[in-house]
Amino acid sequence: MTVVRDVPKQLFIGGDWQDAESGRTLSVDNPATGEELCQVADAAPADGRRAVEAAVAAQAAWAATPPRVRSEILRRAYDIIIERTEDLALLMTLEMGKPLAEARAEVAYGAEFFRWFSEEAVRIDGGMMTAPDGRNRLLVTRQPVGPCLLITPWNFPLAMGTRKIGPAIAAGCTIVLKPAPQTPLTSLALAEILTEAGLPAGVLNIVTTTDAAGVVEPLLRGGQIRKLSFTGSTQVGRILLAQCADTVIRTSMELGGNAPLVVFDDADLDVAVEGTMVAKMRNMGESCCAANRILVQSSVAEEFASRLTARMAALTVGPGTEPGTDVGPLIDLAGRSKAHDLVRDAVKRGATALTGGELPEGPGCFYPPTVLTGIAPDAAIIDNEIFGPVAAIRTFETEEEAVTAANDTEFGLAAYLFTQNLDRALRVAERLESGMIGINTGLVSNPAAPFGGVKQSGLGREGGRVGIDEFLEYKYMAVPVG
Ligand code: ADP
Repeated sequence: MTVVRDVPKQLFIGGDWQDAESGRTLSVDNPATGEELCQVADAAPADGRRAVEAAVAAQAAWAATPPRVRSEILRRAYDIIIERTEDLALLMTLEMGKPLAEARAEVAYGAEFFRWFSEEAVRIDGGMMTAPDGRNRLLVTRQPVGPCLLITPWNFPLAMGTRKIGPAIAAGCTIVLKPAPQTPLTSLALAEILTEAGLPAGVLNIVTTTDAAGVVEPLLRGGQIRKLSFTGSTQVGRILLAQCADTVIRTSMELGGNAPLVVFDDADLDVAVEGTMVAKMRNMGESCCAANRILVQSSVAEEFASRLTARMAALTVGPGTEPGTDVGPLIDLAGRSKAHDLVRDAVKRGATALTGGELPEGPGCFYPPTVLTGIAPDAAIIDNEIFGPVAAIRTFETEEEAVTAANDTEFGLAAYLFTQNLDRALRVAERLESGMIGINTGLVSNPAAPFGGVKQSGLGREGGRVGIDEFLEYKYMAVPVG
């Protein structure tokens, strides 16, 4: 595949492509076939330290670069990404598995963070006020927080990168990016694009590694990184927060979810089924916003389940590169086993699979779209992120019961609710313990909106007007007058 051949396979440090010092490489595999696509550099801690040195060396000049210049680099990179939609989409489909149509949608979504933050780069504001005593003038300005470490997951290889890189560049921060080892190619392609767009050497550095823990911890303890932005599991997020506590590093944490999706009996069922398909099946269910617990009011539950089952059973499972594929493979065999174990546990405890639920034969990490009903309260699927194409439906009687069930989780990222009653929609939305709520829609992600969670789903927000704040510090100057 030429798209794979053309991507650089080395570490990107100080504007140079370099092998890992040890010469080691890691294998990038195609989840649709299980075959190796290529090898890329596998960094050790010493390589990580060189990347941080490069980011530190570039920080002062980058912070002093005019906002308009930073803005235009991002805008040019946006244009190049859009121009190369087909190549980037194919690259993502090959290393991650999603169908090409979804990969193209991610290119548009991911590129938008660069356009959005190119517009925000020139609107970093400050203020001046008179202190209450009438004497001091208080001047407030905002400065980049400093060199940042960005750690991204494999499920949205482009968008998870641009959502962090965009605001960091806009704010004037330098970067060390550590992408997920399953999907490094898209990030490496992005580094080339940003270089072509004029990003100076050292502003973005990329370290690919299979030793995330070994490479990252010394960087967080080294005293030079001033900000960590992490997207991944709550389990790893907790470890990183503890490491950041020791050197008081600012953090943004986008962690796990366990999204409830609530369908009331006054919902438009066509809208509810359509919204559930999106909330459940976008990215094969491999999204931290995926509907994990589907709660349906009992009077409409049977009708809803049968319509959803018809839609799920009609989906075509196959390699993402094949036209007509709706559902690609999961990321790896471990991810597939995890989803299948949750299905088996639910069935063992009394659930019925209306469609799917069986492991397919043959190569690749495929899993069939599955609908489960009759889930017992102690089934593991209720408390665990499925990260696969499995719709787990439970029923409820009253609004109160629905809200209690929806909030009965340590997570609070996304939630969805379907009702035609505006009063109920707002009442329930206000009570849901969740950072983002889709009302009669299954899609909440939007570069112009503040993305993030409450409870153990994370800290901080990405995107929207506030996304850049995570990369800026306030500085205030006191000036007595008169
Ligand atoms: P997932 O289960 O979706 O792979 P993880 O939280 O394990 O989620 O991984 C998200 C990102 O965090 C990846 O880039 C991964 O390499 C990285 N990561 C995993 N463990 C650690 C760790 N101990 N320290 C730093 N980064 C880590």
